[in-house]
Amino acid sequence: MPAKTGQEYMERLKRAKSSVYIHGEKVEDVTVHPAFRNVVRSMAALYDRQYEKPEKMLYRSPTTGQFVGMTFIQPTTIDELIARREATQEWARMSAGMMGRSPDYLNAEVMAMGVANDLFAEDDPMFAENAKNYYEYARENDISLTHTLIHPQMNRAKALHEQNDADVPLHLVERRKDGIIVSGIRLLATQGGITDEILVFPSTVKKSTAGEDPYALAFAIPNNTPGVKFICREAFDYGRSAWDHPLASRFEEGDAIVSFENVFVPWERVFVCGNSSICNRTFRETNAVIHMSHQVVAKNIVKTEFLLGVTLCLIEAIGIGEFQHVKDKGAEIMLVLETMKSHLYRAEHNAKRDRWGTMTPDFAALDAARNWYPRIYPRLSEIIRILGASGLMAIPTEADFHHEEIGDIVRRAMQGATVDGYERVQLFRLAWDLTMSAFGARQTHYEYYFFGDPVRMGMAYFDGYEKEPYKQFVREFLRGAKSVFIPSDSQR
Ligand SMILES: Cc1cc2nc3c(=O)[nH]c(=O)nc-3n(C[C@H](O)[C@H](O)[C@H](O)COP(=O)(O)OP(=O)(O)OC[C@H]3O[C@@H](n4cnc5c(N)ncnc54)[C@H](O)[C@@H]3O)c2cc1C
Repeated sequence: MPAKTGQEYMERLKRAKSSVYIHGEKVEDVTVHPAFRNVVRSMAALYDRQYEKPEKMLYRSPTTGQFVGMTFIQPTTIDELIARREATQEWARMSAGMMGRSPDYLNAEVMAMGVANDLFAEDDPMFAENAKNYYEYARENDISLTHTLIHPQMNRAKALHEQNDADVPLHLVERRKDGIIVSGIRLLATQGGITDEILVFPSTVKKSTAGEDPYALAFAIPNNTPGVKFICREAFDYGRSAWDHPLASRFEEGDAIVSFENVFVPWERVFVCGNSSICNRTFRETNAVIHMSHQVVAKNIVKTEFLLGVTLCLIEAIGIGEFQHVKDKGAEIMLVLETMKSHLYRAEHNAKRDRWGTMTPDFAALDAARNWYPRIYPRLSEIIRILGASGLMAIPTEADFHHEEIGDIVRRAMQGATVDGYERVQLFRLAWDLTMSAFGARQTHYEYYFFGDPVRMGMAYFDGYEKEPYKQFVREFLRGAKSVFIPSDSQR
């Protein structure tokens, strides 16, 4: 089957009837439920774009010759790497970078693990074959995916097997002839309940110990597998119009706790079973982290462009562009944008084929970007808040503009330097939804945490950084420095 359309995406969700819970109720149909229907439509629009711009979004499957999604491609040249990135950015522009889990993120992961699968064979060659087959299956059927990597917080000072209730984190219950049985909880599935399937993988950052082997699992199953439940957090799409809530009304992806109750996973869907060592190396040794970082940096360039655009429109709207600190704050965002673009350029133009033949971006550039952006994103949001000031709270709804008693008042009161009151409030509502609404606050939280804990990522970055040349530089500098010590009379 070739790449799917939005209609097909929605029909599959309808048919799947996965067990999704929100606000204390079980959802009958996510495509019509108020908490999900708008983001489902945004996802459908992404899939439709594949056929609106096939030259950018599709390529011919190496196995069937049919058109499949470009974001599944195994790039073998720099041109193909760039083509994949352009498809990512095409999708990112449709949500202004607000949908962190557009399908390309996990398509890159599935591709990398499917191609560089020999790590999984360390336990059994079957696992490598499974990863390869799963990549082909996901690509040929345009499977949409969510994933869940971390265990519930419980007590972070203890290992998983030392917890008071060690059966809470997802664990292996039984190995059977035809597959495994797993039970327990995993976090945190963004888009949980609105995709076809779920990937259960180890953390990208946190390393497991051998005692945690029963928790060391990697597999992929359909969301509607018996025993799987998605318990979603409260929705930040409050059913308001796209004028009032321009982002939350369209791009609220949702985050879910995932419960597994004696879930059967057939062997052909298992990639790692009870092996901490393989789990600890999964993302690095398959290069999945590199391809996922490539998607993230490409997406976040689009997101930063949008933040910069909002900032510049806001500055112009209220005539604050000549103040020195305002220019300086605008420049801060510009510098972030240009720096991210430079990271991407270096990553792509220094790309090399890895030992599986995949054109792989320069990780040094992407690793720096993925460690830096979570630290700088809160500042970008803060700049918009500082510049918007009261304007981010003086935000009547669209209905107020149409009210016969107050409509004229708000239109006049809210006028800006270059825009009328109606246009100004629409812009400021966007800035508010980007930074301060529940949706906006989640964006900041998402950018900080989605790739893992930035503190521990930073520690790993420091440990893995090639430090010796810099220390050597200083040692040689010191050795070469001539002494200019002139003893005083008393020292002579
Ligand atoms: C909006 C959002 C969406 C997400 N979507 C997904 C998703 O789709 N799929 C998915 O799998 N995950 C997702 N995540 C989860 C994300 O991977 C985690 O938040 C991240 O890995 C950090 O883990 P944690 O939340 O368990 O924090 P914890 O590990 O519990 O850390 C909590 C605090 O304690 C500190 N801490 C804990 N242990 C240590 C330690 N050993 N050393 C130093 N400091 C420590 C941390 O620095 C942090 O400040 C999402 C998270 C967010 C916020």
